[in-house]
Amino acid sequence: MASAAGRPLADNNGAHFVLVPLMAQGHAIPMADMARLLADHGAQVSFVTTPANASRMSAFVAHAEATGLAIRLVTLRFPAVDFGLPDGCESADMLGSKDLYGNFLDACAALRDPLAAFLREEQRRPPAPSCIVSDAMHWWTAGVARELGIPRLSFNGNCGFASLVRYIIIHGDLLEHVADEDELVRFPGFPTPLELAKAKCPGSMYAPGLKEIRKKIYEEIRCAGVAMNSFHDLEPVHIESFRRITGKKVWTVGPMCLCNQESSAMAARGNKASVDEARCLRWLDSMKEGSVIFVSFGSLACTEPQQLVELGLGLEASGKPFVWVIKAGDRLPQVEEWLAEGFEERVKDRGMIIRGWAPQLVILWHQAVGGFMTHCGWNSTIECICAGVPMITWPHFGEQFVNERLVVDVLKTGVEVGVGGVTQWATEQKEVKVGRNAVRAALSKLMDEGIVAEEMRMRAKELGIKAREALAVGGSSHNNVNLLIQEMGNKANATD
Ligand code: UDP
Repeated sequence: MASAAGRPLADNNGAHFVLVPLMAQGHAIPMADMARLLADHGAQVSFVTTPANASRMSAFVAHAEATGLAIRLVTLRFPAVDFGLPDGCESADMLGSKDLYGNFLDACAALRDPLAAFLREEQRRPPAPSCIVSDAMHWWTAGVARELGIPRLSFNGNCGFASLVRYIIIHGDLLEHVADEDELVRFPGFPTPLELAKAKCPGSMYAPGLKEIRKKIYEEIRCAGVAMNSFHDLEPVHIESFRRITGKKVWTVGPMCLCNQESSAMAARGNKASVDEARCLRWLDSMKEGSVIFVSFGSLACTEPQQLVELGLGLEASGKPFVWVIKAGDRLPQVEEWLAEGFEERVKDRGMIIRGWAPQLVILWHQAVGGFMTHCGWNSTIECICAGVPMITWPHFGEQFVNERLVVDVLKTGVEVGVGGVTQWATEQKEVKVGRNAVRAALSKLMDEGIVAEEMRMRAKELGIKAREALAVGGSSHNNVNLLIQEMGNKANATD
């Protein structure tokens, strides 16, 4: 038997996965990929979301239906207004201020009873839910799973390297006794050399209300295992250390973005693209192979207008072709004024500016793209690894500084732009952290001729090949997906 994508199917044992993603693009997109991956391997999938997120996912659902995958969207009402959020505000990227993040997580926790009711109903008919995969931020799903006797895997959207750092920080209370934001923190038990300034450690700056629930969130003991969007050959030592230190079963099933092989599937991820995909591809087709730098900072990072101007001037000074994504949250009107004052005209022959949401995979995987200037969100990072493209790292907050260390120090497939400090998500920033000269220098280091850049490009290409091998038939992640389906299916049958 073969799947919609022509893969041999595992015996699915009646496995029915219920996925409960955090409503944030960087968490919901990989979970949607996981849904596709599990369904493509023969499992049935129920994907739990809320009305506003469901409408964002209409292209994904249409694509899944057209390809005959057993993915069903389950929509639960989100009580935004009851928790002080604007009506319809159902995703982290809609919050506008990080001060509302605590309210958002409380509203998520209020989905507990509706989720339990849905699961109870599902338990009455086959195939009953055999496994819940829920975001680590949805700590409350652990109680629901226990109550109903359904195994739960936790998904935190990170790689092994960053998961390990966060685990060590939280369980060792590492940041509690470091007073100075610039003081270097060391990580006992971390398997490779690593130190980070306190301000750059995940969890160093919490939104109000978050500190109290952080232990609940990261209590890995409350789950049957961890699903990870990574693959063995990428970071074997760190994945193994994470497994050992948590004592948990870790299912590396990534890179999950690779389940999107057709461009229609790639373009169906996340929001509707604000650029005509065909025009974008035509433009890229007209550029030399490996010559274009793609610049995008994900869905949440907030970049000040003045910082965007410096970035633009650095791109201009580099003389290199670029695709630059300026998202709606980057206070477009002020930036728009500057773009119109001459910048856009000056770079029109070699620069494409996308205002809003870009079809990231489509762009990143085009042969004209030779580098990715990224905020180092894990999805962007692993998508770039799959494309076999080197990076310029420009982290803003959270795990992004840790991912930068993985890329620059361990994988050696990127150069740092040199970010001076942390840029909090959805918070006013005043200073410029990276000047135009630093942007130009990093571009030159990554994209110009020379042995160092050439070796980096080679390493990135090799990693891209390994990433594809992991999810190809017989690869480590491909096998893990099959084993996961078999194990969860067996467990469900055992309790029948
Ligand atoms: N993304 C996209 N188009 C955009 C911005 C982001 O498709 O214009 C996707 C990107 O491919 C990735 C996700 O949104 O899958 C962002 O996740 P990441 O972990 O990189 O960053 P976050 O948004 O969580 O900071």
